[in-house]
Amino acid sequence: MDTFNFHNPVRLVFGQGTFDQIGERTAEFGSHALLVTGRSAARKSGLLDRAVASLEAAGVDVTLFEKIMPNPTDEVVLEGAELAREEGVDIVVAVGGGSPMDASKAIAVAATHDEPLWEFLRPEDRREATEATLPIICATTTSGTSSELTPFAVITATEQKMKVGIGSDNHYPKVAIIDPAATLTCPTGVTANTGADVLAHSMEGYFSTAASPVTDLFAEKAIGLVGRWLPKAVEDCSNLQAREWMSLANVYAGYVLSNCGASVMHALEHPISAHHPEVAHGAGLAVMFVSYARHYWDRDPLKFGKIAHLLGRGIAGAPAEQSAQYAADALQTLLDRVGLNIGLEDLGVERDEIPTLVDDALHYMGGAVKKTPADLTRDDLIKLMEDSFEAK
Ligand code: MN
Repeated sequence: MDTFNFHNPVRLVFGQGTFDQIGERTAEFGSHALLVTGRSAARKSGLLDRAVASLEAAGVDVTLFEKIMPNPTDEVVLEGAELAREEGVDIVVAVGGGSPMDASKAIAVAATHDEPLWEFLRPEDRREATEATLPIICATTTSGTSSELTPFAVITATEQKMKVGIGSDNHYPKVAIIDPAATLTCPTGVTANTGADVLAHSMEGYFSTAASPVTDLFAEKAIGLVGRWLPKAVEDCSNLQAREWMSLANVYAGYVLSNCGASVMHALEHPISAHHPEVAHGAGLAVMFVSYARHYWDRDPLKFGKIAHLLGRGIAGAPAEQSAQYAADALQTLLDRVGLNIGLEDLGVERDEIPTLVDDALHYMGGAVKKTPADLTRDDLIKLMEDSFEAK
C-alpha cells in the first residue's frame, strides 16, 4: 500500500438548527466580523437577519458586505478587503454558497497583506497567504462547493480572464456550519448544479493520483448519496431528509476535495466560466461527466465499476470491474433526472472556443490536469470537450 496523509483542520458543526451557532462560534475567534454574502438570497430567505442576530447576541460587531456575485471577481474581493480594513474587522464570516465563501477567504487574505492580490492568484510564482490572514467562519446555504471545509478559493481575475483557485493552510475556515435546514431555500437549479459539484469533487478525487484509501471511502459514500438523494432534493426543494443527506454528501466530498484537490473536469470548467461568467460552476462540470466516463472507464475498471454499482447500474453478483462500462449510462440517467442533460453549446460555448479553453486549462489548471490518471494530452482534452458539446 502507498503511503498517504490526510488532513482537515476545520471544526465541523453539522445538523438542523446549527446555523444559529454562528454568533458563539465566531466569538471564539473575533469581536468584529465582516459578514460576507451574496446580493439577495440570504436577505430574502431571512438567513442574513438570523446571522446578524446571532452574531450580535454573542457580542460580535457586524459590518455587512452583501455584494458577492456568482463567479466572484478580484474586484469585489478588493472592495470587501478595503471595507474590512476601514472598519478594522478581525474576522470574516461567510453566509451563502461557494461564491461568498470563496470570496470571504480571498478577502481575509487581501485585507491583511499589502502585496497586490494578483500575486496570490497568478499561476506562476504564486505567493502564499501568511498567518496574518483573518480567521474565517463559513455557514453554507447550499450542498455543493464544500468551500466551508477546504482552503480553496476560486476567484475570477477580471483583466486576465482567468478563474484561478488558491489554497493555503492559512485560509482553511476555522469553523464550517452546515445546517441542512439552511439549504431548504436553495432553488431547484442551484440545488442541481451544486449537487453536480459534489459529484465532481467525489469522482475527481476518487480517480485522482492523490487518492488514498481514506478519501476513497468518503468518495464512495458521497457518490452513493448523490445518486440516491440529489434527484429527490431537486424534485422537492422542501424535502428536509434529502437536504440532510445531500449536506452529508457535501461533507464527505469536502474531505475528498481538501485532500486530493480537483482534477480534469474542474481544470476544464474553470476556463469555461472564466470566459462565460454566467455559467454556473456545477453546470459546467456536469456537461463533461458522461464523456469522461465513456472515454476512460477502461483506465480504472474497478472504480468506474463501483460508480456504476453506487448509482444502481452495476451487474448484481458480478465483480465490480465488469460494470465499468455502465458508469457513463448511470451518470447520464442521474443527470437526466436532475435536469442537467446539457452540452457545452447549452452553456453558450462556441465549438471554435474549445482549443483556447483547453490551452487555458493547461496553463493555469495544469496541476489539476496532472492529477488525472492516464496523462491526458492537449488532444485528449480537446476530444473530451468536443464530445461534450451537445447534450447526449
Ligand atoms: Mn467545485
